[in-house]
Amino acid sequence: MTKEEKRPRIGVLAIQGDFAAHAEALAESGAEAVAIRKPEELASVDGLILPGGESTTMLKFLERGGFLDALRAFGATKPVFGTCAGAILLAREVRHPAQVSLGLLDIVAERNAYGRQIDSMILTVPTSLGGEPLEMVFIRAPRIAETGPAVEVLARRDGAPVLVRQGRIMAATFHPELSADRRVHRLFVDIVTADSV
Ligand code: GLN
Repeated sequence: MTKEEKRPRIGVLAIQGDFAAHAEALAESGAEAVAIRKPEELASVDGLILPGGESTTMLKFLERGGFLDALRAFGATKPVFGTCAGAILLAREVRHPAQVSLGLLDIVAERNAYGRQIDSMILTVPTSLGGEPLEMVFIRAPRIAETGPAVEVLARRDGAPVLVRQGRIMAATFHPELSADRRVHRLFVDIVTADSV
């Protein structure tokens, strides 16, 4: 099999938010990116990224046509990576204010938790990914207030988890697609590749 044939197909939810930046990051990390706009398109991918954006706006769209249930069913068997608003969508519970979520990741997410003045910033943070500390772009980021026992914390900002993994489900409260460093996308591509053999 050639290298080209082995590239996993990873969907990026493309109803709102930055599909293009995630697609580029996935391509640079050895995967093929596919825009997902309808629940039935999930059948054609091996993994899925839920991008940043505005989780409330995304929910309005997802609550129609059984999309939320389709995402829950997908995440029950396939890898899913949520960034920022996508991490909020994955959570077991959302606060500040409470809203519907997929419950695929055992975390409690508090929306817009950093207050107005420091709500968007770029930090360089140590991680357990190996190598140098990682540049992290935070944009009106949520705070992971609680993690369940099965959740592995890969990086923290001021004590709060910012990059977590629970088996094949991953979440970042920052936007790895907006930095040049591809370690986070590469980890997700590795998870998808391991899961789909
Ligand atoms: N503040 C947004 C929300 O609550 C998330 C921001 C982002 O995805 N950059 O959904």
